[in-house]
Amino acid sequence: MPPPRRRPAPDPFAFPYRVDRAVDSLVVADHPALHRPALEVGARDDPRLDRLIDRMIAICAAAPGVGLAAPQVGVGLRVAIVWPPGADDLRDPTAPVVRPDPIELVDPVLVEVGEEVVWDAEACLSLPCVRGLHVRRPERVVVRAADRHGRMHEFAASGFIAEIFSHELDHLDGHLYPERAGELVYDPDFRPHAGEA
Ligand SMILES: [Zn+2]
Repeated sequence: MPPPRRRPAPDPFAFPYRVDRAVDSLVVADHPALHRPALEVGARDDPRLDRLIDRMIAICAAAPGVGLAAPQVGVGLRVAIVWPPGADDLRDPTAPVVRPDPIELVDPVLVEVGEEVVWDAEACLSLPCVRGLHVRRPERVVVRAADRHGRMHEFAASGFIAEIFSHELDHLDGHLYPERAGELVYDPDFRPHAGEA
């Protein structure tokens, strides 16, 4: 009998789903990646990190969404995209006319949480058929994170953009917005779209 073959160690960056079917590559609801804390990336300037972030941006654009966290594509690493909307997104009247570039967050840390709390409606690309009402979020957050090259950035956000940061950071800790929602509305025809994360 040949010796048992040793399985290669799993690659934490491996992207388990096809990116050319962008929206189909999102994992939903009870997928385990959505419910456990993601692991620190640590390394920077890794071509696998480049590939993961590029694919997440492509998926976020295709969905379309205003943010995406790696667990939503089945990757359990602390990587997220926050992509503030442009003026065509009616949810945010203060949005700039030209949509800004996506913000890359690698190993983001919440360094400040404002005391003021807002209760807004929310949905998630990973939770079709449901919307949250009165979702509790800080009105202001400050987040420190690396970009894909390891450069550190600090982002101070308020209002809708702070809600996106908070939503994505929750994903990295295995939390979904229903935990913060005062009410959930089930609607079998509802599909998250632009303005969701
Ligand atoms: Zn989400």
